[in-house]
Amino acid sequence: MRVPMSSPNISAEDAEAVRAVLDTPYLSIGPRIAEFEERFAAYIGTRHAVGVSSGTAGLHLAVIAAGVGPGDLVITTPFSFVATANCILYERGIPVFVDIDPFTLNLDPACVARAVEDLSEGGKPAKPWLPPEMRRGSVGHAAGRLKAILPVDVFGQPADYDLFQPAAQRHGLVIIEDACEALGAEYKGRKAGRLGHVAVFAFYPNKQMTTGEGAMMVTDDDAWDRLFRSLRNQGRDESGAWLNHVRLGYNYRLDEMSAALGVAQLARIEELLRKRERVAEMYGEQLAGMAGVALPRPAPTTSRLSWFIYVIRLAPEIDRNRVMAGLEERGVPARPYFSPIHLQLFNRERFGYREGDYPVAEAVARSTLALPFSGVMTEQQVTYVCETLRKIL
Ligand SMILES: *Cc1c(COP(=O)(O)O)cnc(C)c1O
Repeated sequence: MRVPMSSPNISAEDAEAVRAVLDTPYLSIGPRIAEFEERFAAYIGTRHAVGVSSGTAGLHLAVIAAGVGPGDLVITTPFSFVATANCILYERGIPVFVDIDPFTLNLDPACVARAVEDLSEGGKPAKPWLPPEMRRGSVGHAAGRLKAILPVDVFGQPADYDLFQPAAQRHGLVIIEDACEALGAEYKGRKAGRLGHVAVFAFYPNKQMTTGEGAMMVTDDDAWDRLFRSLRNQGRDESGAWLNHVRLGYNYRLDEMSAALGVAQLARIEELLRKRERVAEMYGEQLAGMAGVALPRPAPTTSRLSWFIYVIRLAPEIDRNRVMAGLEERGVPARPYFSPIHLQLFNRERFGYREGDYPVAEAVARSTLALPFSGVMTEQQVTYVCETLRKIL
């Protein structure tokens, strides 16, 4: 048996919705994107939703809206997908990594609070938070440079936002929620997507719902809604005059075929989420009690975990990479989610990061194993994965 790492859940109706767009003259900037945005905003409960071409593009526009420019600082997590930090670098800002909580795998709120205070006062205490390259010599001080906090709702579990708010408010920081893995998740009864000033959801094929490529930004801020619409459309002004560009913009638009798929998938989002929950339950039942394997569990602040991938953690004495190779040989792909961002080659070279800089994130990253996961997995496939893992261990 060969089990796919992930598979989208596409119905005949989804496919027909995409095909029907091709019978119209509107393949971009048409009625489907407007409909998708309206329904998405209603689902999350925000005033606005703006469709963009990818989660990365959405995060980039959020960083622009937060006013991040060259040398500005943004606090974020080293334990995420690389796009979380890249979107800060696009604007010549500097990601300030803060270590994670070993249980929730999200930003450690106590560390974030300390980093905000130190960086906002500037001067000497700011230095340990900065990248190694910036600690040497005279970096001046960081006062006034900290613009935003960018928490990630890792593996479909919201970060602890209530503990970020006081520091953010005191120092006028924007909170950008990277909810790319958390569609449908809830934090203390509040939906992911409403936990910061702006949030981004992504629809790559392995996410809870898909549009192929694509993403949605959500916000309650009217001015930011207008700004995002202009930025994604080459900096055009609100009149939409085709050759009138009032700011530096991008082509981050979401086409009509993708938007039509988004409308169709969103219409059955609860079904998509439940199917993923069911597969996670099967994994939970079959892996329970397996020696050396710790299962994912919701934090006390998570009122609904939205299953993005199924990530187990192996005991430190188990050679994770050998287990991965053994699984692969038997037709079961598995991935070491995530490889810490600060240790990616270009961040090491540019900022001087080394192993040991973020011990919790690194220890977690050495132990994690994402098993094949999707809402269309069969019980037979889950059983095969679990039995194969049991044999190898
Ligand atoms: C998927 C993902 C993104 C980016 O999404 P793309 O649509 O692939 O650009 C950003 N952040 C996190 C945490 C993600 O999982």
